[in-house]
Parts: sequence; structure tokens; C-alpha cells
Amino acid sequence: MRIDIVTIFPEFFDVLDLSLLGKARQSGLIELGVHNLRDHTHDRHHSVDDTPYGGGAGMVMKPEPWGDALDSILGDGAGARTTDGAGTTDGGVTHEDGPILIFPSPAGDQFSQAMARELSLEKHLVFGCGRYEGIDQRVVDHYEARGRVRLVSLGDYVLNGGEVAVMAMIEAIGRLIPGVVGNPESLVEESHEDGLLEYPSYTKPASWRGLDVPPVLLSGNHGAISTWRRQQQIERTERVRPDLVTPHLLPPANAKTTTS
Ligand code: SAM
Repeated sequence: MRIDIVTIFPEFFDVLDLSLLGKARQSGLIELGVHNLRDHTHDRHHSVDDTPYGGGAGMVMKPEPWGDALDSILGDGAGARTTDGAGTTDGGVTHEDGPILIFPSPAGDQFSQAMARELSLEKHLVFGCGRYEGIDQRVVDHYEARGRVRLVSLGDYVLNGGEVAVMAMIEAIGRLIPGVVGNPESLVEESHEDGLLEYPSYTKPASWRGLDVPPVLLSGNHGAISTWRRQQQIERTERVRPDLVTPHLLPPANAKTTTS
């Protein structure tokens, strides 16, 4: 996968040299380009912001540097859609050829594991990190008319800029690219993959500060361990995130109690 990021703080993304994503870059599974928006300004001060039309607090990111930067990444095909609109399918998810341009925004669709999985099937993602009060709306409108654009929110709160949101998205998407995480089994059992939160995990020693590992995990009985883990997933999800629990995820006995 190719990932391009446009930002006024390229240093933010130095950490992508580390850990699993760093290894994925070294092995060529992920190709990364980090672009400084200020390199696409043409004034002495390299300004990327100006006062908002209509008044109000704060500054707004100017459209011209964004247009320059994004055109240089997207080329003439600027996030080109397939001309017949039919798209292609990969792993059961329909998508079109050409890059997807993603603007992190508190006004976007909520990022989720399902969205991360869908985006992990793409060949080219381009992220545009907003700052100040955000980017001039015409930038979104311009590229929406030419290709695939998504506004994506990390959650219902406001960050200072898009960089942290993009880092979180790249981590979540990147680890789903085949080969990035050594053991693909570990991805299957994680929180949000099957709609439930993960069961609690334990390692050695079996007893620590008077707290014992649940005996079933030491029993060697794989059937019992699997049943216990499923129960723990259901109990934890019902307690912490009841909004995630839908009857089809529960065994028949639990399903009755939640639907009544
Ligand atoms: N004035 C904007 C509003 O009220 O929606 C907030 C601007 S925020 C200070 C600056 C930038 O941070 C945004 O353009 C966006 O790129 C990023 N950002 C802030 N909160 C975010 C969130 N919850 N999810 C994704 N990106 C966010």
C-alpha cells in the first residue's frame, strides 16, 4: 500500500520508522510519503492560513497550497474514479481504482475497525491534516468532484490538528495489511473484529500479588477455555459497551434475556 500525508508538521510522522509499521516500510509492504504543505506556498512567509470570510475566531487553511500539494500527489487523475462507476471487488469489499483522499475532521464519519478493514484493501491512501479552524471547504468540494474523498472523525472531541488522528488511522489500517502483523491469528480474536470486546488476557506467573489466573486457563481443556473466553467477551461487552451487543452475537440463553 502507498500512503501519502500532507501536513505542516512532517516530523510528527517520524515515529512511523518504529515498530511493526517501520518494519512494514523496510520490507516494502507500506510505502510512505510525508509532504510539507509549506513547500507548496509561494510567498516569503510560507503562509498556509488566513482569516475566515464572514468573521469569527481563528484562522482557516488557504486552498492554494492544498491544491498544489494534492495535485502533485494525485496527478491529473486526482483520485480518479473508474469511468463506468462499477468499481472492482477485493476481499468482498467493493472499491474503485485510484487513491482515496481522507481528511480527518470532527465532522466526518466515525472511524471504526470495519472502516480500517475496508481501507486496508486500498492501494493508495492520501491523508490531508488540517490545523487551525480547518481547511477551506472548497478543497474538499474540488476533489470530491474528481475522485473519492472521505471526511473521517476519530471521535466526538476536537484535536488541535489532523496528525494524531492520521497516526491512529494508519496504525489501525496498517496492521490489517497481510504480512504486517507476524501472526495473522492474533488479528482475528481482537476487540471489535467479531463485534465484541476481547476477553481478558493473562501470562506467567500464575499468581501475582495474591491475584490468581482463572483456573480454567491452566486446565489445558481447550473447549472449556474457548467457552470461558466467549462468556468473558459477552460479559465485558454488556458491561462496558452495551451499545455493541446485538442478539445474533449471543448464545441462545443470553439472546433471550437481552431481547425481552
Ligand atoms: N473548527 C473545527 C470544528 O469545529 O470542526 C475543528 C478544527 S481542529 C482545531 C483542527 C483540525 O484537527 C481539523 O481540521 C482536523 O483535521 C483535526 N481534528 C480535530 N478533531 C478531530 C477529530 N475528532 N477527528 C479527526 N480529526 C480531527
